[in-house]
Amino acid sequence: LVVLEDVNKHFGDLHVLKDINLTVHEGEVVVVIGPSGSGKSTLCRTINRLESYESGTITIHGDELPSEGKALAKLRADVGMVFQSFNLFSHKTILENVTLGPIKVRRKKAAEAKQRAMELLKRVGVDHQAEKYPAQLSGGQQQRVAIARSLAMDPTVMLFDEPTSALDPEMINEVLDVMTSLAKSGMTMIVVTHEMGFARKAADRVVFMSDGAIVEENTPEEFFTNPQSDRAKDFLGKLL
Ligand code: ATP
Ligand code: MG
Repeated sequence: LVVLEDVNKHFGDLHVLKDINLTVHEGEVVVVIGPSGSGKSTLCRTINRLESYESGTITIHGDELPSEGKALAKLRADVGMVFQSFNLFSHKTILENVTLGPIKVRRKKAAEAKQRAMELLKRVGVDHQAEKYPAQLSGGQQQRVAIARSLAMDPTVMLFDEPTSALDPEMINEVLDVMTSLAKSGMTMIVVTHEMGFARKAADRVVFMSDGAIVEENTPEEFFTNPQSDRAKDFLGKLL
């Protein structure tokens, strides 16, 4: 579904993505882990073309990523992204946050968008907050709204970049639970996270990045019990 071939990217002299080859199949959940600065966020941002890349190809359903125009706007809707900071529109209600994209980008009718938004808010457990503003919600609730907002666009794939790392500990699980249930529902997901419990439970595959490169790829079972590379061993050793 999502295929990266020999993707390279620099920030000035810094080679941030080095010959990245990654294939994510439909319905697969890939967890990306690795040390700070290894290029995990850049990888996510490149897949939805928030960042450009200099060489290699990235295709979704066989189509090369567009770089501009309407096709780019459609790509951003097809590739949902949830960040560490929830980036909800602060002056819009929860419901408006979720209906805006479908109405503007997907050209849905307001009533239809609203009905779907309420279903999604219910699915993430914040439907009773629909008329409130983001600042009136907890961090965990806001992040669940951000997930609902991405889902409202009927994405082909969802990218998560450390979605729980800005949350208070007691709110982490409510967001991970939503992500786990999304994974079980068959959504194709690429998740950057330090939550190893989630990786073990929900990932089909773990991708370990270090210094801009994919160093190791394996099932969570194999990766956590039997890491191959010294860098992965070192990284896992520091987590424990
Ligand atoms: P973290 O775990 O801290 O989030 P990461 O693996 O997500 O790290 P990236 O944010 O992808 O790492 O950054 C990879 C490298 O690229 C880092 O060295 C970072 O300083 C650098 N970098 C990221 N964004 C930019 C930018 N816009 N301009 C220049 N350098 C950047
Ligand atoms: Mg990052």
